[in-house]
Amino acid sequence: MKRIGAHVSIAGGIENAPLNAAAIGARAFALFTKNQRQWQAAPLSSAQVERFRANMEAHAFQPQHLLPHDGYLINLGNPDPDAWQKSLHAFIDEMRRCQQLGLPLLNFHPGSHLRLISEETCLDRIGEALNRALDATEGVTAVIENTAGQGSNLGYKLEHLAELIDRVEDQTRIGVCIDTCHAFTAGYDLRTPEGYQHFFAQFERIVGYRHLKGMHLNDSKPDLGSRVDRHESLGKGKLGLSPFRCIVNDPHLEEIPLILETIDETLWPEEIRLLYSLIENKEETPPAVTP
Ligand code: MN
Ligand code: MN
Ligand code: ZN
Repeated sequence: MKRIGAHVSIAGGIENAPLNAAAIGARAFALFTKNQRQWQAAPLSSAQVERFRANMEAHAFQPQHLLPHDGYLINLGNPDPDAWQKSLHAFIDEMRRCQQLGLPLLNFHPGSHLRLISEETCLDRIGEALNRALDATEGVTAVIENTAGQGSNLGYKLEHLAELIDRVEDQTRIGVCIDTCHAFTAGYDLRTPEGYQHFFAQFERIVGYRHLKGMHLNDSKPDLGSRVDRHESLGKGKLGLSPFRCIVNDPHLEEIPLILETIDETLWPEEIRLLYSLIENKEETPPAVTP
């Protein structure tokens, strides 16, 4: 089954996320496990974890269909040693929160060289941070997101993702998430079925489907290759609906979280229904949930 959802709010407590996801007809969702704009957060209490799990169960969400996202301040490639340490500690805390919630994935952006070090050295720093974070935790896979390549962000080429995977010792706990907007603005043309096939043929050769743990489904405001990260609602941007029709009909993407991060959350119920309606072989998929 295709697991389509959105990045939902945790306002009022993390236990609200499964309720927010159920309310929009989602069968998967993303969330932050703390305020994404702050370094520090109070630890999760066992009562909170209990309530979160109870709400997951009540709405039939399974842990592997969730794609938690780390905070915005973390830069595992930071050239400054103190700033790198701070990011590493915050990332380990994020992994531990996932572990505590029983969630097997953590989605993160690779990092930025801030124009102070080479791409290669920056990839080394990120790889070192990943090995330390994986050593310090259990049961959580670090899921690298491809980026638009805005500013000095790494991860805009499939080769960057592969080079990071190569640097990780525990190959069973490293994965990737492909964001359609980021791939497109990084220069991968997904606008036609042929372009989509070509992208995933490269993906299989350079990264490998075995590492694909999730997708972010976003249309794009900026043009192909602009290296600018600005999402748009499905069908309203430069990508159009074609790549999303390909995604929901792609047998490689069964049972992994397919997450909307589109800009108008009032459209999410409609966008989720639209995506389910684009599936051609409906026998394998139960009808979309009506929120
Ligand atoms: Mn992201
Ligand atoms: Mn994304
Ligand atoms: Zn983005």
